[in-house]
Amino acid sequence: MQVLVVGAGIVGLAIARAAALAGHDVTVAEATGGIGNGVSSRNSEVIHGGIYYATRSLRARHCTRGRRMLYEFCVSHGVGHNKCGKLIVATNAAELAKLEALLAQGNENGVEGLELIGGNAARALEAELSCIGALSSPESGIVDSHGLMLALWGDLQDRGGMIAFLTPVERMSFTASQWQVKFGGRDPGVAAFDAVVNSAGLGAQALARRIEAHQADKIPPLVLAKGNYFGFAGRPVFSRLIYPTPVDGGLGVHVTIDLAGRMRFGPDVEWIDRESYTVDPRRADAFYDRIRTYWPRLPAGSLLPDYCGIRPKLSGPGQPQADFMIAAEPSHGLPRLVNLFGIESPGPTSSLSLAQEVVDHLSA
Ligand SMILES: Cc1cc2nc3c(=O)[nH]c(=O)nc-3n(C[C@H](O)[C@H](O)[C@H](O)COP(=O)(O)OP(=O)(O)OC[C@H]3O[C@@H](n4cnc5c(N)ncnc54)[C@H](O)[C@@H]3O)c2cc1C
Repeated sequence: MQVLVVGAGIVGLAIARAAALAGHDVTVAEATGGIGNGVSSRNSEVIHGGIYYATRSLRARHCTRGRRMLYEFCVSHGVGHNKCGKLIVATNAAELAKLEALLAQGNENGVEGLELIGGNAARALEAELSCIGALSSPESGIVDSHGLMLALWGDLQDRGGMIAFLTPVERMSFTASQWQVKFGGRDPGVAAFDAVVNSAGLGAQALARRIEAHQADKIPPLVLAKGNYFGFAGRPVFSRLIYPTPVDGGLGVHVTIDLAGRMRFGPDVEWIDRESYTVDPRRADAFYDRIRTYWPRLPAGSLLPDYCGIRPKLSGPGQPQADFMIAAEPSHGLPRLVNLFGIESPGPTSSLSLAQEVVDHLSA
């Protein structure tokens, strides 16, 4: 089939690669001038274990399976990564109870190697840490997102697939057994495809609304939750990912490290109405307070506003966490169209597994 994938983020590229490996003729349309210019370059680059997500949800299934596939892919394709492990820390009795619940859920989700350890054992691993207990997740790690996208693109090209940059998809309709797709951008025109995957991240709902005959009530509302990061001006003190217990809408202001060992903090959760990418320096106060619950020696004046990303959520404040939504023909009635909605965390961790499911839908 001639397959069009809309969006050259990590998830779109993984789907394009999987479709090309399955023998399809694949084109990726990307509105901007490069790969990974959306949510995929504005995240923590963490390879998640699969602990946090409701058992049997798409997020749980694709995160655990996708994580295993991702480590294998990183090794076979020389993508920078570090299975550095992670500690989710409890600083009071209520948080300790949350850790026990997370342990039970992680075990049910099939996450390997999880272990509850005491405060002293945690400090033996990370001397600066202050906590009364921690959940150790040895399978968690970090990945070079851009390197991952380049490797996915490389496989796509090897199979004859291509990316059309500066090519926003403007409208689509299904006529004469094919998708007629109208492109804008530097070289506007119309082209026909057998199948279309809408992997447009924050733009997925807007694109779905421009698909002729797509029922509006099959398109879930998009909820924007910004996540701000602060960089750390000092020598790194942790060698593992350190997370507090999760909060409404996010995983809590955590310590991430990059492949060079640098530390940064975030993301927090800021519910917003429209896309904006400025980090308000005043949010630092809340960061100091939160981080000092598990790292009391965080020096004053050491946090610097860094970047932010926006989670394309399907649930709002106080609501139960929505699952990923993979909407294929049974959901909207249109043939060989897959819309991906709400692909927030753990999208990159899940990407290779999600891609297989999406390609299966195309052939169904
Ligand atoms: C603050 C934050 C932290 C996160 N941390 C992690 C983490 O540590 N680990 C993890 O696994 N996940 C994490 N995530 C989630 C992860 O970043 C996303 O799941 C993932 O990047 C989504 O990739 P994508 O390809 O779906 O979307 P994107 O990367 O946004 O790609 C969509 C692309 O579609 C293009 N596009 C949009 N509309 C059109 C159109 N009409 N025509 C053509 N192109 C179009 C856009 O330009 C964009 O390039 C985090 C997310 C956030 C916001």
